[in-house]
Amino acid sequence: MRVKHNVSRVAALVAVLALGCRRTDTPRAAPAPDVSRAAPAQTLPPPAPPMVPPAPPTPAQTPDTPPNPAPPGRWTRAAFPIVDIHTHIDPEATSRALALFDERNVRIGVNMSGGMPGMGLEQSLAQQQQSNGRIIPFCNVDWRGVGDPRWLPSQIAVLERCAALGVRGWKIPKVLGLGAGDGRGNRLHVDDPMLDPLFERAGALGLVVLIHVGDPRAFFEPATPQNERWDELQVHPDWSFANPMFPRWGELLTEFENRVLRHPRTRFIGAHFGNCAEDPDRVERLLERAPNYYIDTAARIPEFGRHDPARMRRFFERWQDRILFGTDLGLGPDPRDVMLGSTGRDPPTAEENERFWVSTFRYFESTDRHFAHPTPIQGRWTIDAIGLPPAVLRKVYGANAARLLRLPWPPR
Ligand SMILES: [Zn+2]
Repeated sequence: MRVKHNVSRVAALVAVLALGCRRTDTPRAAPAPDVSRAAPAQTLPPPAPPMVPPAPPTPAQTPDTPPNPAPPGRWTRAAFPIVDIHTHIDPEATSRALALFDERNVRIGVNMSGGMPGMGLEQSLAQQQQSNGRIIPFCNVDWRGVGDPRWLPSQIAVLERCAALGVRGWKIPKVLGLGAGDGRGNRLHVDDPMLDPLFERAGALGLVVLIHVGDPRAFFEPATPQNERWDELQVHPDWSFANPMFPRWGELLTEFENRVLRHPRTRFIGAHFGNCAEDPDRVERLLERAPNYYIDTAARIPEFGRHDPARMRRFFERWQDRILFGTDLGLGPDPRDVMLGSTGRDPPTAEENERFWVSTFRYFESTDRHFAHPTPIQGRWTIDAIGLPPAVLRKVYGANAARLLRLPWPPR
């Protein structure tokens, strides 16, 4: 009974986190008009066929020599204080989050599931108070009812209210581009000009816009045992966007880039390594063109950690002022509702929990080669560390986010 209950809670958390909002963000009485259509859940694809047993590892996925273990007790705590720019922490999980933060040297966590006024935001602001400013929210808007003439003014009003309440940023989940409709029976494109006033207003209000567009490239390829993210797609069949009803990976990225370039006075953070961890050259081109653009590292060390470490170290050194540390840590009301960059069939084990943090700090701080990445379900390969110099680490770990969000820094 207990286990069943827990599994359903995890499933609910996962389903909601997949769209970037926790359950309580889902409006009961929606402020935007015409909520009957284009609800994200209704536009996602039908559930996939029943699970099949895991595929045998293919040579391409499995290292031929075992990953190098970390020396016991090493890399368990970050070398410098952290602002984790990308978390999802339920108000009921506040004390658990703070204990975890203390253990790993996380000073501040930014909660991407802050909600909307009247729908979760007040609880998130209470969490900010209760945590002494160590968990701060970004707010969300309602993507249902787009196309109704009342939608745009109502959501601009949401952003204005959030800013007036002291919120520092606005998080946009992948439902923009992959789920939301435009009210005319089509997909709402990330760069739809109809949305321009919303992004302009966010910039004028000083809200930083953290935006998740698309997903790993492999999720747009057929979900077969040959897919390099097959382990994850089996647990989350609804994360597959291989169906031609969805736009292609590169198409979504182009829309996203258009959006960032169109609003030079709005500061953007591209979630998950600029939504493009597979192609750092493309990320770099947008960083070059858009001085208003930052990226976070959340849930993508397994992906960008596969690239040549010398190239990645150069990337981090060149963009040391515009990269923000993030994890995509999710903590739900039940102690077993834990997301470490992704979720598996069961809550993470103590060993998986340890591996998540150790591999993360080891990637940035050591020069180790061929070791396990933080999130086992995100691919059966190893990564190579980039050994950032202390001055760069300090910025990426905390100082950049603190500057961007006007947070007290360095922490006492
Ligand atoms: Zn997230």
